[in-house]
Amino acid sequence: MSRIFPWKDSGAWRAAGLLLLGVLWFSCSPAPDFPSRGEAWENDVPAYGDEQRLLDETFRIDISEIDVTLTYRPQEAAVDGRARVRFRMRPGQRRPRIHFDPGCRPGVISEWRLDGAARELPDAAFRAVEVVGSAQRILEFAEEVDPAVAHELVMAYRLELPGGYPRFTTAVHDIKGSGNEELFPTLNTPHELARHRLTLRVVGDVPYRCLGSGHVARTNSAAYQEWLLDSEREVASYTVMFVLLPEADTVLREGAIAGIPVRMAAFRGGVAVDPAWAELESWLPQMVADIGPFPMPRGLSVFLVSGGGGMEYFGGTISTPDALSHEVFHMYCACSAVGRTYRDTWWDEAVTCWYDRTYPDYMVPIEAGFRSNMVSGRSPVAVGFDRRAYYQGTQIIETLARRLGGRQEMIAFLSDVHRRHAFAPFGTMDLAEFFRLYSGIDVHSDFQDWFFSAGAVSAALPPAPSALESPPDLTPPEEILRAHGLKRPSAAVRGDGS
Ligand SMILES: [Zn+2]
Repeated sequence: MSRIFPWKDSGAWRAAGLLLLGVLWFSCSPAPDFPSRGEAWENDVPAYGDEQRLLDETFRIDISEIDVTLTYRPQEAAVDGRARVRFRMRPGQRRPRIHFDPGCRPGVISEWRLDGAARELPDAAFRAVEVVGSAQRILEFAEEVDPAVAHELVMAYRLELPGGYPRFTTAVHDIKGSGNEELFPTLNTPHELARHRLTLRVVGDVPYRCLGSGHVARTNSAAYQEWLLDSEREVASYTVMFVLLPEADTVLREGAIAGIPVRMAAFRGGVAVDPAWAELESWLPQMVADIGPFPMPRGLSVFLVSGGGGMEYFGGTISTPDALSHEVFHMYCACSAVGRTYRDTWWDEAVTCWYDRTYPDYMVPIEAGFRSNMVSGRSPVAVGFDRRAYYQGTQIIETLARRLGGRQEMIAFLSDVHRRHAFAPFGTMDLAEFFRLYSGIDVHSDFQDWFFSAGAVSAALPPAPSALESPPDLTPPEEILRAHGLKRPSAAVRGDGS
């Protein structure tokens, strides 16, 4: 996710509030645990053996495929979901767990079938449990399963949407760490890669437009407007994007830039598509030249919005024009090269902010003696990452660049990391090791100080910018709202956005 520039968008707080309201409404999780939980996870390097065990004991399963049919009923502001998840047990595990936040509420799940047999809900199926170190609850299966064979969970459920403008879209918020477990069962942790196939249906005669991650194709269903979205490879669940919006309310430009298929949509009467397209005409070739071939064979899908910030997904983004280049660089760092755990994902923000110079004030080396618990301040199973990624993270990347000899040398290193480690999630100390192997420069003890030290933060730090990291705002322009008989939501229902 990018940050917004508040002087350019006074509506962003309200927009964030509106979106957050929807997110909270979906979620039974307690409040997210940032800025950080300082107590239990300090100084845990180099305990990656322990980390792997903790991840296995917490998340229990290894998902191979997630097939979901989401039938959107705009008239009812509701979605009927049917999901099939194929998985195996992780080493030493017998009782599966899966994330699905709406399922923490009674009555949302209407059917639960494990390996073909229905289980009585809820007690013979699952219970929602707390996880030490995380703010997010998880559904623990009622029974143990054979760890030697693959299993299949089938779940039927109904999601109630917030209502208002008739759209159905992903609303991942990586800073908070809320992902697609608000829409279907999955594991919300970056290292859990799975092939995703989403059948997206819209009920009714109003034509809809669909954009999303991977390969998206309209089917010839007679009963629904229906699209099949296929990630075509294993990806982190929180990187899967889709957008379903009334076609008449949107404009679309399609074409190829530097051989990369690009689809760019926006609200009619909203943000202009052509200037954003023109920006990608120079940005995409620059990234390809610097880092490597565009990582998503089906190219890039963009839904441009006028307010809030942006969110990156696998081969897609929902973004303002201001955040667009930032989000598109995330195709390399975050959506293909990916951190092992949420707390490791400081890296993709730091590199992206460094590459696109999001914060010029922070393009200076980190001061000598800087110590932080940017990574160790939270558990490997916690959701979300530390906001210092944007600021001190940028400075740390600049420090590494200067040790390598400059900007071009650092870009060459990032290209090497991407080429070797895309779709093979890695942790923070792994990155230090990549750096040593690439350059011969040992930064392990620096990394320990910078990311795994008990919060002795130097007083000499530049103040962090006061802007807020914000999700994109999908509220359409006034004219479209009026055409739907809607008004811009009043402040009272927007929430406070914090
Ligand atoms: Zn970002």
